[in-house]
Amino acid sequence: MTAGEEIRALAVRIARASRITVVTGAGVSAASGIPTFRGAQGLWRRFRPEQLATPEAFEKDPKLVWEWYAWRRELVARARPNRAHEVLAAWSRRVPRFTLVTQNVDGLHERAGTRNVVRFHGSLWEIACARRCPRSPRRWPDETVPLREVPPRCPHCGGPARPGVVWFGEPIDPDVLAAAQSALDCDLFLTVGTSAVVYPAAGLLAGAARGGAFTAEINLEETEASPAVDVAIAGRAEDVLDEIERLVGPVGGRR
Ligand code: NAD
Ligand code: ZN
Repeated sequence: MTAGEEIRALAVRIARASRITVVTGAGVSAASGIPTFRGAQGLWRRFRPEQLATPEAFEKDPKLVWEWYAWRRELVARARPNRAHEVLAAWSRRVPRFTLVTQNVDGLHERAGTRNVVRFHGSLWEIACARRCPRSPRRWPDETVPLREVPPRCPHCGGPARPGVVWFGEPIDPDVLAAAQSALDCDLFLTVGTSAVVYPAAGLLAGAARGGAFTAEINLEETEASPAVDVAIAGRAEDVLDEIERLVGPVGGRR
């Protein structure tokens, strides 16, 4: 099949599905100007994300880690959701059972008005007490840009706060994992803009396929998920989703 035929075939599946689960990664936010981790612009100063997004890095140098998060918060605060976020938000309002599991921490799906977002790796816009002192809530919202103090402090114990995200080597919040797993019972499972190498998010595809879902991928490049899905579409998320929406959306399609 040509790319155009593959897109049309996927659009038909999407128009017919009543239970859709989408997993997104950094590629979905690339068109909003947010660098991916593994792309050429993924470096900040001379560090790789894997050297900063870990509990060990935070323990060693909380200020350095927070400077990176402060930079990312400023970048995202200036960014806007792109066409990929908008199309997924439209589906979330139209499809009877729709779940969006995102590995992104930028909040752009929420800003686009997406319903039923499972934030698999937490949020840049929440912080937590690094010592987990007993009086502090598990996480609390903090959207101040720029931060008044780096690192910000826990208001309960005065110790350093940490970003409310899941770092490499940390477990996924059990409630979040359960929400993602219950969404694997779907007709159509779509993975978009993720290199599909970070577990356990990368394992969701196998779970959905085992449950009988039709599986599809949209990515600029071939990934480890590409050979495993029913259809892999090579292209930019914002372009391919826009094309699908023109075929299935309120104007062109059945819904
Ligand atoms: P990744 O950087 O490993 O992979 C990005 C993927 O997106 C690549 O496969 C690339 O080919 C693809 N891609 C790039 N531009 C695209 C486009 N326009 N359309 C479609 N695909 C495109 O990111 P990941 O897989 O999300 O995993 C890394 C971790 O990094 C995640 O846990 C996530 O929390 C974190 N992260 C988050 C953000 C964010 O919140 N925006 C940004 C970077 C990394
Ligand atoms: Zn505290």
